[in-house]
Amino acid sequence: MQLVLDWDGTCTEVDGLHMLLEEFGDREIYEHMQGVLGAGLTLHEVIAAEIATITLPLDFAVGWMREHVTMRPGFKELAERASPIVLSSGFHELIEPVLAREQIELEVRANRLDARPDGWRPIWRDEAVCATCGEACKRGALAEQHYVFVGDGYSDRCAALAAERVFARDGLARYFDRLGQPYERFETLHDVAAALGV
Ligand SMILES: [Mg+2]
Ligand SMILES: [Zn+2]
Repeated sequence: MQLVLDWDGTCTEVDGLHMLLEEFGDREIYEHMQGVLGAGLTLHEVIAAEIATITLPLDFAVGWMREHVTMRPGFKELAERASPIVLSSGFHELIEPVLAREQIELEVRANRLDARPDGWRPIWRDEAVCATCGEACKRGALAEQHYVFVGDGYSDRCAALAAERVFARDGLARYFDRLGQPYERFETLHDVAAALGV
């Protein structure tokens, strides 16, 4: 069965886009936006408002990400053994250079970035609104497929609910707890590999 991995906070130890926003974005807008996510604004609206506060040249941001973003233990082994897809609500421009640093090639489904000097703008991969959650969510990228989903956050909720098997940590685990839905908890990607027997 296809293995699908969220990127930020799942493949990486800490959400790289959040790190970038905290370091170089507007912290007040960032904190406000985290509070209204799912309560009036969609994930796309929140991400667009957050990254609009970043005016860094893309090269500099990529260099900073390659230096500061660390991989969750077991990432390389799982990537090599299970040929996962990476499905992210982040951006190719920030994910691919970190994958290249790790010398791993994976299929990445993510958005594109227009890194304008007056504020970054997203170019969304897919803006179709999902009939289940009412947002342009990750589920559409996986339609008609059976998959195992591994994730940690808000953007993973709807796609994880449609998975055959779910590995969750952090906010996604709390969400599944609230719903009383079954999932397997993970901290490292060694945990996931062991449970999948790969
Ligand atoms: Mg995540
Ligand atoms: Zn959805």
